[in-house]
Amino acid sequence: MAGKKHKDTIAVRTQLPKTEFNEHSVPLYLTSSFVYDDAETMRAMFADEKQGYIYSRFSNPNATELIDKMCQLEEAEAGFALASGMAAVFTTFMALLRSGDHILCCNSVFGSTHTILEKQLSKFGITHTYTDILKTDDWAKAIQPNTKIIFVETPSNPAIDLIDLAWLGKFAKKHKAILIVDNCFATPILQQPIQYGADLVIHSATKYIDGQGRVMGGIVVGKKNLIDEIRTFARSSGPAISPFNSWLLSKSIETLPIRMERHSSNALKVAQYLEKHADVESVKYPFLKSHPQYKIAKKQMTQGGGVLAFLIKGGLKRGSKFLDALEMSSLTANLGDTRTIVSHPASTTHAKLTEQQRLETGVLPGLIRISVGLEHADDIIADLEQAFRKFKKK
Ligand SMILES: *Cc1c(COP(=O)(O)O)cnc(C)c1O
Repeated sequence: MAGKKHKDTIAVRTQLPKTEFNEHSVPLYLTSSFVYDDAETMRAMFADEKQGYIYSRFSNPNATELIDKMCQLEEAEAGFALASGMAAVFTTFMALLRSGDHILCCNSVFGSTHTILEKQLSKFGITHTYTDILKTDDWAKAIQPNTKIIFVETPSNPAIDLIDLAWLGKFAKKHKAILIVDNCFATPILQQPIQYGADLVIHSATKYIDGQGRVMGGIVVGKKNLIDEIRTFARSSGPAISPFNSWLLSKSIETLPIRMERHSSNALKVAQYLEKHADVESVKYPFLKSHPQYKIAKKQMTQGGGVLAFLIKGGLKRGSKFLDALEMSSLTANLGDTRTIVSHPASTTHAKLTEQQRLETGVLPGLIRISVGLEHADDIIADLEQAFRKFKKK
């Protein structure tokens, strides 16, 4: 076999086999079901004796291409694609857990993941304990005999804290727990958790995988035996991704490596600009030397990614004036878009958390998150600068 291909090549060249038309770009398979030549083939397919497509709730060629590409990029054995990132999180939990199981969850995870643990899984007798992302020495105390899953996000949203994945991989193995990493912020281009012992990696494909703010999608990749359970659950419960979204996301990934490179270089420039600004209290970005976990970032990430957070002097009041003064950057709930997005987590994505939970996870009232886009870095900085100047005058 030829040597392992580079990620840029995998992203562009992983394609379904060509049809009789010899097309260069993969077609969209808008079909709910598939036909068979004879009754015996159909029987064998349903009995899982023969590989192939049956029904698009189970699998579809466009989803296959997307999954195959993500598996190669994450260096995973198997995968399944779903309608959204939360469908991936929820389906994974439902497929792998049963009543009486426990989840050890890092406290700084996506808002809806908190909601699933607290409002949904609790209905089925599945319990959880939150652990502080910055106090890993305490994690062993939170492990229980029934801890089945350890769930983390790194870098975390929105405080941009990190977990040492090498440490975490060993920790999960020692405690015989399934390690799940939400790799949404880094993408496989910047970080591959499976290399450090993650059993499953989850993505909201809605973010950088699409990267253009167009579609929803979710993917989970990892150990084959776990993916088999997830697929079995999903086949009957129906959170599958649509052929169109799969097709679009697979196309999007063709540019993922170069997009992540530019998101990262733009974000580093914006972070360096903010760090020197008199109106800024502090900036968190993995590849800024001032980040408390800069060494961990350098060890496990190839670049810092597109998201940074900063504390504005004057807290929330001044923060909302700053948001209102922006001219180009978008105020929206998404991240990982070509367009720069500025948001205020305490009043939006993390508003459902208690005040205490927000403070514990670094969602301070004056925290502003920027998902740095692909506009020219100078123009992004100019927009921030005019906003700082504008509200200062008043
Ligand atoms: C957005 C997001 C999710 C949820 O994904 P959806 O596609 O919106 O369902 C999960 N985890 C992280 C880190 C996210 O940013």
